[in-house]
Amino acid sequence: MSADPRPGLAKLSDVRQDLPELDDMPLGFLNVYFARDRESGEIRAAHLRSVMRNTPAMMAVNVADVGLVLWAFWARLPAGLWAWAALVCLLSVLGLAGWRRGMDAPLPTASPRAVRRAAVHAGALGLAWGLLPVLWFADAPAQHQLLIACIVTGMIGAGGLALARLPLSSAALVSLIALGAMLALIQVGGPIFTAVAGLLLCFVGAMAVAVAGLARQATALLRSQREATRHGQMVSLLLRDFEDNASEALWELHADGTLSHVSPRLAELLGGTPGQLSGQHLLQVLEERDSSAASLLRHAMSANSSFRDLRLTVSLPDGQRTWAASAKRLVDEEGRARGWRGILADVTSEAQAQDRLMHLAHSDTLTNLANRVSLHEAMRLSLSKGTTGALLALDLDHFKHINDALGHSAGDALLKAVAERLTDCVRPGDLVARLGGDEFAVLCQDPISPADAEALAKRLVKALEVPVNLLHRRVRVAASVGIAVWQPPAPTVDDLMVKADLALYEAKGAGRARYAVYTPRLGERSTRRTAIEHGLMQGLETGQFQLAWQPQINLSDWRIEGAEALLRWEHPTLGRVSPVEFVAVAEQCGQITALGTWVLQQACRAAAGPLQGLRVSVNVSPAQLMGGDFPDCVRRALLTTRIDPQQLELEITESLFMGDVPAALAQLHALRSMGVRVALDDFGTGYSSLAYLRRFPFDTLKIDRAFIDEMLQREDARTIVHMMTQLATNLGMRTVAEGVETQAQLAAVAAAGCDEVQGYVVSQPLTLEALVELRNGWLRNRASGIGEPRSA
Ligand code: C2E
Ligand code: CA
Ligand code: CA
Repeated sequence: MSADPRPGLAKLSDVRQDLPELDDMPLGFLNVYFARDRESGEIRAAHLRSVMRNTPAMMAVNVADVGLVLWAFWARLPAGLWAWAALVCLLSVLGLAGWRRGMDAPLPTASPRAVRRAAVHAGALGLAWGLLPVLWFADAPAQHQLLIACIVTGMIGAGGLALARLPLSSAALVSLIALGAMLALIQVGGPIFTAVAGLLLCFVGAMAVAVAGLARQATALLRSQREATRHGQMVSLLLRDFEDNASEALWELHADGTLSHVSPRLAELLGGTPGQLSGQHLLQVLEERDSSAASLLRHAMSANSSFRDLRLTVSLPDGQRTWAASAKRLVDEEGRARGWRGILADVTSEAQAQDRLMHLAHSDTLTNLANRVSLHEAMRLSLSKGTTGALLALDLDHFKHINDALGHSAGDALLKAVAERLTDCVRPGDLVARLGGDEFAVLCQDPISPADAEALAKRLVKALEVPVNLLHRRVRVAASVGIAVWQPPAPTVDDLMVKADLALYEAKGAGRARYAVYTPRLGERSTRRTAIEHGLMQGLETGQFQLAWQPQINLSDWRIEGAEALLRWEHPTLGRVSPVEFVAVAEQCGQITALGTWVLQQACRAAAGPLQGLRVSVNVSPAQLMGGDFPDCVRRALLTTRIDPQQLELEITESLFMGDVPAALAQLHALRSMGVRVALDDFGTGYSSLAYLRRFPFDTLKIDRAFIDEMLQREDARTIVHMMTQLATNLGMRTVAEGVETQAQLAAVAAAGCDEVQGYVVSQPLTLEALVELRNGWLRNRASGIGEPRSA
C-alpha cells in the first residue's frame, strides 16, 4: 500500500477552479451550447458520447426506413425518390463516420462547435425526412400514406428521444420532420387531415417538453456527479493537508485490527515507517512499545463503541510520551463491524503542563512536601484500607519569634531545614506534609502500632532539638507532636485531624518539645474547651465577666495596702469557670489581649474611683505582655483614668522567662519606665530561678501558696520562705505571702519576715462594693483599736 492513498490528485488550487454558475433559468440547459468553461465542455462531451453510442442503431433504422419506402413505391417509383434515398443514406454514412471518429479518439471535452455540428447533422436528416411527406404524401395511395405517416411519427418520437441529451439536435430533427408532415397534411386538406395536423402539433409540443426535461435532468445529473467527485477530492486533499501539518494522525483499522492506512504522521508517532507498519496489527504494534498502553486501548475497543481522548502513556526510546486516542467503530450497511477509524494525538506537552499544575496544587512550594490537599487525599485512602495507621500533627514551638527576629527568609530557610529533618526521620511509606505556617504532619500510611508511633514522635522531637545553622547563627527550634493512632473502624479524615490536634495541644500545654497521644479524655476536654473559646468574646460583650477583689494587708500595721483584681466568669451553660482554665484557653486562641485589656481598664477605673488610695494589682499573662502593644495599652489605661502609675501593680509569673528572655526584660523595663509597679507572682513554683530576681528589679515578690501550706509541716519550707524574704528585702523588694488561710500560717509568715499577707485569713475575693465596705469598716475598727484579722 502506498503512503499516500490518493496519488495523482490535482492540487487544491486546481480543484477550486472557477465553478460555472449553475443556471436556474428555464432554458438554462441550453447553456452548454455556448458556455466555454471546462465543465460545460466536459458535459458536452458526455452528452455527445451518450448520443453517439446509439448512432449505429439510429443510422441502421434510417437506412431500413429508406428501404421500406423504396420497397413500397417500387411498382410506380417517382423519379426524385432515388435521389432522396441516396441523400438519406449519405447522411447516415456521414453519421456513422462521425461515430467512428468519436469512438477512436474519445475526447474529455467537446467544443460548442462540436454540438452545433451535431445539430446541423440532425437538421439535415430532419430536412431529408421532412421532404418525404412534402413531395410524395399527397399523391400516394392510402396504404402508402399510412406507411409514410407511421415512419414520420416514429422518426419524430424515436429520433427526438434518442437525441434528447442534445436538445438542439433533437429540436432540429423533430421540427423539420414535423414541418414537412404539416405541409403535406395541409396540401391534402379535408377535416380528418386537419385534425391529424392538430394532433401532430400537440405531439410535437409534448415531445419538446419531454426532451427539455430529459436534457435538463441529464445535465443536472452530470453536474452533480462532477460536484460529488470534486467534494471527494477536496476532502482527500484536506485530509492530506491535515495529516501533513497537524500534530494528530489519522488511523484506520480493518475489521481484523490491522492498519489499513498509515500516514507519515502516524508512522512517526508509532516510531516506524508507513511501509513497515501498514497491514500490521495496531494493538500488537502498541504492545511492542508499551504493554499497559496496549491493554488500555484494547479495553476501550472491546467496549465496541466510540471513545474519546483516551490517554495512553507510552515509553519510547526517546522518552515517555502521552497520546490521546479517539476512535469510532465503522459498520457497513448491514451493521457489521468493518473496523475502526480514529485520531491519535501527541499531547505530551499538554500532559506535562497538567502534571506540573497538579504537582503545584498538591505540594507545598516552599518545602516541596505534600500540602494539605494531598495529605487529605492520602488520609482518605489510608483510612479506607481497613488497617491501622497514625497521624502525627507537629507544630514548631516559638517559630513566630524566630520569624520576627531573623526575618522571613530565615524563617523560610528554617522551615526547609525542618522539612528535611522530618523526611529523614520517617519510615519509607510515610508521608510528610506541611499544612501551612509552622504546622507539619506525618501520615503513617502503612500499619503501625501505638508504640511505634510514639517511637517515631520521639525521633521527630529529638531530631528537631538539634539547633539549625541559619545566617551564621545556631537557631534553636523545638516541636510539639500530637499523635492520633487509628484502627478499624477508621475515623473520618476530619475526626483524625481533630484528634491529632488535640493531642498536639496537650503536648504544648504540657510544656512543649514533647509529644502526646490522643485519648478520649482529651476529646471531652476539647468540647469544653471549644465552648470556652467560643464563649469568651460573647462573654466580654454581654458583661459576663466581673472582677473580684482580694485585699492585701500590711503585717506591720495591719492596714489594707492594696487589692488584687481576680477575674470571674459566669458562663451561661458551664456556670462559674475558673480563671485558671479560661485564661489558658484565651492565651492559646489569642483572645487574652482583649480580655486582659478589659481587666486593666476596669481595675484602673476602680483605682481612680472607689479604691482611691489603694494599690491595685492586675494579673498579666505572658502572652498578653509579649503582645507588641502592651505598654501602649497600659499607657492608655493610665491616661484615661489619670491614676498615679505607682497605684498600679502588674503581676507577672515566672513563666514569662520561658520564652525570649531579652524581649521579656525589654517589655518589663518599658513598663517600669512608665512608673508602674511590677510584681513577680507565684514565686517558688515551677522554674523558680533566683537569677531572674537579679535581672529585673521587681517591686514585689509574691510567695506562692504552696510554700505557705507547707510552712507549718516542714522546717525546710519555713527556712526557704525566710531566705526568700531576706533576699527580697536585700534587693529592695516587698514580699507578699499568698493564700494565708489560718492564724497559724499568719503567725508563721509574719515570723518569716513577710511584709504583707493576702488570703482567706483576711478575706476571700470580694465584689468591689464589698471591698469598699470592708475598707470603710476596717478604718473604723482600726480607729477603735480592734485590728483583728477576719475573713469575708
Ligand atoms: P493568682 O494570681 O495566684 O491569684 C490568686 C489565686 O489564689 C486566686 O484564685 C485567689 O482566689 C486564690 N486565693 C486567694 N487566697 C486564697 C486562700 O487563702 N486559699 C486558697 N486556696 N486560694 C486563695 P483565682 O481567682 O481562682 O485565680 C486563679 C488564677 O487565675 C490567678 O492566680 C491568676 O493566675 C489567674 N487570674 C485571675 N484573674 C486574672 C486576670 O485578670 N488576668 C490573668 N492573666 N490571670 C488571672
Ligand atoms: Ca496574682
Ligand atoms: Ca499568685
